[in-house]
Amino acid sequence: MARTHWKTKAPEKSSRDQSVRQQIEPKRDEICKLLIKEGLLSEEQLQYGQRVLSKLSTPRPLLSVLEELKYISSSQVGETLQANPVAIPLGALLVELGYLSEADIKAALASQEEKKSSRLGEILVDLHLIGEDELLQILSFQLGFPYLDPTLEEIDPEFFGRAPLALYQENDFIPLRRQEKGVLIVFADPLNIEQLNTSKKFFGHEIVQGIGRRSMIQETLLRLETDSAKMADRTAVVEPDDNAVINTVNDILLASIKEGASDIHIQPTKDQLRVRFRQDGVLMNYRNYPLEVAPAISSRLKIMAGADIAERRRHQDGRIFFEHQGHKLDFRVSIYSTIFGEKIVMRLLGSQSELLKVEDLGLSPMMLQRFSEETLQAPSGVIMVTGPTGSGKTSTLYSAVNYLNNDSTSIITAEDPVEYVIDGVAQCSINPKIGLSFEETLKHIVRQDPDIIVIGEIRDKFSAEMAIEAALTGHKVLTTFHTEDSTGALVRLLNMDIEAFLVASTVVSVLAQRLVRRICPKCAEDHHLNLNEIRQLGFHPNQVPSLLFKRGQGCRYCRFSGYKGRAAVHELLIPDQMVKDAVIARKTSHEIREICIKSTGLVTLLEDGIYKAIRGVTSYQEIIRQLPRLERPRHPDEISRLQGEF
Ligand SMILES: [Zn+2]
Repeated sequence: MARTHWKTKAPEKSSRDQSVRQQIEPKRDEICKLLIKEGLLSEEQLQYGQRVLSKLSTPRPLLSVLEELKYISSSQVGETLQANPVAIPLGALLVELGYLSEADIKAALASQEEKKSSRLGEILVDLHLIGEDELLQILSFQLGFPYLDPTLEEIDPEFFGRAPLALYQENDFIPLRRQEKGVLIVFADPLNIEQLNTSKKFFGHEIVQGIGRRSMIQETLLRLETDSAKMADRTAVVEPDDNAVINTVNDILLASIKEGASDIHIQPTKDQLRVRFRQDGVLMNYRNYPLEVAPAISSRLKIMAGADIAERRRHQDGRIFFEHQGHKLDFRVSIYSTIFGEKIVMRLLGSQSELLKVEDLGLSPMMLQRFSEETLQAPSGVIMVTGPTGSGKTSTLYSAVNYLNNDSTSIITAEDPVEYVIDGVAQCSINPKIGLSFEETLKHIVRQDPDIIVIGEIRDKFSAEMAIEAALTGHKVLTTFHTEDSTGALVRLLNMDIEAFLVASTVVSVLAQRLVRRICPKCAEDHHLNLNEIRQLGFHPNQVPSLLFKRGQGCRYCRFSGYKGRAAVHELLIPDQMVKDAVIARKTSHEIREICIKSTGLVTLLEDGIYKAIRGVTSYQEIIRQLPRLERPRHPDEISRLQGEF
């Protein structure tokens, strides 16, 4: 999108400029003050930066000058703003970060005064000074607010019912559900302190802020208003044992296999029952059914899953083993009670894809060599695969198990649940309903004389201790862990109160990963990144003036999505002595990460993504959408060298 950048503007010195400057200037000091408060910047550095700025013939944001002087990094600015989320108003922030010029803000402020509106963001979008998507992207990426689409999110009726609908409509926010750190609320303008305070009155001080489009929030509220009344007195008109219902459910299950889906989402909406499949990590519409059949379909699935059919207001789970026309299927079922009725999500187990060989995981040459030789062939220790849900970590774990599986090795597992069956491996599926708990299983595992122990997931202090204890007694332990990146795993273990020297002496490696969509081979075209895109990746355009990626135009073969299949992006950490020392010294996560990058040859998720995008595997959009951008990537040539390509 065409936009005028601050730095390309010629200096203007009218008296009106001065008054605008006064409105922005004090806030500029504010950001620097915060950086000083956080100990990231010194007074001297600030003064030097201001002197440099005063000598420049073209005005530009002070922050970019400080960045160029290497006093601060954009990620530090992001972290500081995240730690002080409502200290800086939107307009000043955008100018400060270099997205808007002084002239832009002047026009917006004039228009704001004229309209007597408090919504600067809306005005900026109306005036085409910035795109709505771009604005959301800045707020989401610079400030770390997760981007949420409320129309697709599950809204927990318990929280939604706490405040009147009109209050949500007036303040542009919707509470979604409880998360570990508080109630997740999607705001149209998360920087608006009044709206934040209003939300706190109803949901307490522990709030996780997300950001969403204002139009989506209002649309969702409107729908909730009209539908909640209707939902209240809806009764089932179709019985679950009706042949038509049984056939419909069977059709959906079989179609999901045919389409290669990993999950099925069955969700009642305003006027239809929507059925979607997750394919290549993205939800695609499969078919809509009349809303009248929703209760019957839901009852039928509950019977199949062994859930309580009479219970409609509580969340439930279950499992479906389904054999039909020669297909054997295994689904894990989650039933979630929404204000529109029950949303049912089924995860297909065991057949997401074939068991991949370690060589086919998509590791770069250097990572593949180090993962197999230094990690998997290590005599003992904990080997972790980390990532968020849906990052493919379980598949990688199974590949590793398969790699190590042979006649002379005893492998035993505790999984929740077993997703792939591997010949010759003693696999156990946890089942708390019959008293087969994780704790109980792990206690018995070591008595089975194993060489290799596979713990499906480290999910609490107990399982972390079991993994470490087993490693200390000479076992090789393979497990997954839910963390954002590789170094996060070390830090999380420390935060679980595991002794630092135990973490340092047992963790052999951490492989962090994400899945990105693979560009469709039939419609790929060149994508020359523009300067803004190069900057978004974290490069300085004067170091990396041009970058050639690929992107999919969309064709029949890829259903016009531009993508076909998925590829993994990795970050492999093999702690060396310096990293172990840093862990024992309990350095901060930021410091440990820096040491890993400098001393162990660690290539970050972002860098591996860029490496793969340059090779045409995935796109710029996928990198931006999926990969954490914690620090600036190194030069692409340097990344290639680290990845083992010369
Ligand atoms: Zn295509």
